[in-house]
Order: sequence, then structure tokens, then C-alpha cells
Amino acid sequence: MPDLPLSPGSSIGILGGGQLGRMLSQAASRLGFDVVILDPEDNSPAGRVSRGQIVAAYDNETALDVMGRVCDVVTFEFENVPASSVERLARAGALVAPGPMALAVAQDRVSEKTYLNAVGATTVDFAAVDDLEGLRAALDVIGLPALLKTRREGYDGKGQVWIRRKGDARRAWEAIGARPAILEARADFERELSIIAARGRDGAVGLYPPGENVHEGGILRTTTAPATLSPAVSRRARAIAEAVLDGLDYVGVMGIELFALKGGRLLVNEIAPRVHNTGHWTQDGCACDQFEQHIRAIAGWPLGSFEAQARVEMTNLLGPEVEQWRTASGEAGACVHLYGKGEARAGRKMGHINRVLGPARQARAR
Ligand code: AMP
Repeated sequence: MPDLPLSPGSSIGILGGGQLGRMLSQAASRLGFDVVILDPEDNSPAGRVSRGQIVAAYDNETALDVMGRVCDVVTFEFENVPASSVERLARAGALVAPGPMALAVAQDRVSEKTYLNAVGATTVDFAAVDDLEGLRAALDVIGLPALLKTRREGYDGKGQVWIRRKGDARRAWEAIGARPAILEARADFERELSIIAARGRDGAVGLYPPGENVHEGGILRTTTAPATLSPAVSRRARAIAEAVLDGLDYVGVMGIELFALKGGRLLVNEIAPRVHNTGHWTQDGCACDQFEQHIRAIAGWPLGSFEAQARVEMTNLLGPEVEQWRTASGEAGACVHLYGKGEARAGRKMGHINRVLGPARQARAR
């Protein structure tokens, strides 16, 4: 096991070579670390800005053993890496953060919601569904409308379908591929918020001021942060972050998506054991962004500042919208972040723009 805090010059491994890996790698390199990426696709967005990339599947044992040998700490940029890969890395001598427990909880929507409720972070009512008959029984308990989601591997609104009438059960079950699922009650939310929190190796927990998110078709469009929150809701957000991260003995940054109901009640929608799209605003709103914060945490450094210095609106550039860089690059207060991806397929996250709206203190509580 390496000595902590990790000294500059140490190597950090990242499983996954997408945009989150790229921005983590850039933050790590600012702190003097070398980064090695593991991703099955050659020339990945993260690989192109890192010391090196191993091109192999996430469960390739030889590749994992090399990662374990050359990296002092290994992290991941998406939650669907096989748990067995993380275990193998740990056996090869690498420190892995976040740990396998967080990965296991977040990979399955039923274990995730069960865990959240157990630590007092309330969610919508839900039921596990294993077959069509089970779905019909669950609809009787959960009521209508209800949202059927695959238990595993859903993201950006994929693998989920609304059920408005009981007669639609079969069609919905087939639409998600007749796979193990979860049925969720509809959250009647006023707005969607998210918490970007971090926990250090010493157990210290911090969180950025929550942001307000707008999704379309299940995909994030914008985050505006800091969101205007009453002191009571801010306190509740902190309590949720502490309970969720402490309960997993978590190390690193986590994204926690919330539904804010009328009257200020918060329900947790889901957690992501990694840096998060709704935390991109911190790159231009905070002295220490979520990517540096994650690297600090996993390297055993003290956590950085969570304070917002500016109010920021982050807009995702999806597919051909990436062309907006042409105008945004000449716009005062617009910070353009592009991921170096080739093909601008519809819905693909190609980049984002952080628009600085003004000083953070203008965000008043309501
Ligand atoms: P998810 O993939 O679970 O993050 O869901 C994507 C988006 O679908 C969320 O950001 C919400 O806008 C919406 N959504 C998910 N679950 C629910 C729910 N139980 N009730 C209402 N809207 C939901």
C-alpha cells in the first residue's frame, strides 16, 4: 500500500476514458500526478490528455494487473465497472477509491434505495419487480402513475418507462427488455436539485452549495448553482450528504440527485459514486472544482474549499449543439469546455458551457 498523502509524481489510474475521466485527469495533472486510463476504446477523450492509456476491456485480467502494479490509487469515472475488476485491483496492491461497497450499492437501484432509506435519506416508494406478474402486483401497491426502471445499467433516462394505466403493464415490461426492474412512485417535485459532496480519507465531509437541474427526456440540460435554498433545506442537504457518505465509509466525490417537493421536503432520486455532470459548474464557480476535490480525496490530501465564488449556469452541449462553441467562445462570461469527441451523434455529451452569472452572494435564500 502506498504512503498517504500521495506525493506528486505518483500515478493515478482511472477506469473509463470519457469526459469525466478527461477532466479528472486534467485536475490530477495540475497537482503533479501521472494518470493512466483503462478504456476499451483507443484514443479515448481521457487517454488523449493522460500519461498513457491501456486499451482493454474492464474485466481484462492482464490489464487490471498492470494497472494495479503501476498505479498507487485507482478510481473510476462511471459506476458500471464490474465489481470483480475493482476487487482484483485491490488484490494487486492498488488502493481503490471509492471502495467496492459504494459501487455495489449504486449499481442496483433496489439496493441503492434500500440503503438510502436505511441511513435516513428518504426516497420515493418503490418495489422490486422480477416478472410481469410481480409488476402487476407492484402497481397495486405503488399506484399510478409509476415509473418502471431497469435495476441495473440505466442512465440518462435510458431503460425506463412510465406506466399510466394498469393495462400498460405488459407493454412497459417488454419496453425495458423484460429484465429485473424497480417500480417507483412518481415524485411530485417542484424542482430537481443535486448535491456534490466529498469525503476525505480522514472522514471529513464537505459539500458544494446544491445546484438546480433541468432535465429533458431524462438527460440533463442545465444546472444553475448555487440554487436558492432556505437555511432549513440547506441543513437537510448537508445531513443527507453526511449520512450517505459516512454510511459507505466513502472516499471521493459523490453526486446525489434530489427531488425537492413543495414545502421543502427532499427525496433522494439516485446517487452516483463519482464526479457528476451536475457538478461541472464548480469548474468556473469555485476555487477547487469537483475534479480536483476527487483527486485530493483519493490521494489522501486535505479536501479543498467548497465555497462558491460565482453563480454559474452550466448548459450541456448535446450532439450537434457542440457547434455552439463558435458563438460561445466570443461571449463574455461564457467558459467553453469541450471533450474532444469525434462524432457528434444525437444526444451524445460533447461539451458544456459554464456561464458566469455574477457573484455567488447574489443567490438569496427563499
Ligand atoms: P434517473 O435516470 O433515475 O436519474 O431519472 C432521470 C430523470 O427522470 C430524473 O432526473 C427525473 O426528471 C425523472 N424521474 C426519475 N425518477 C422519477 C420519479 N420517481 N418521479 C418523477 N420523475 C422521475
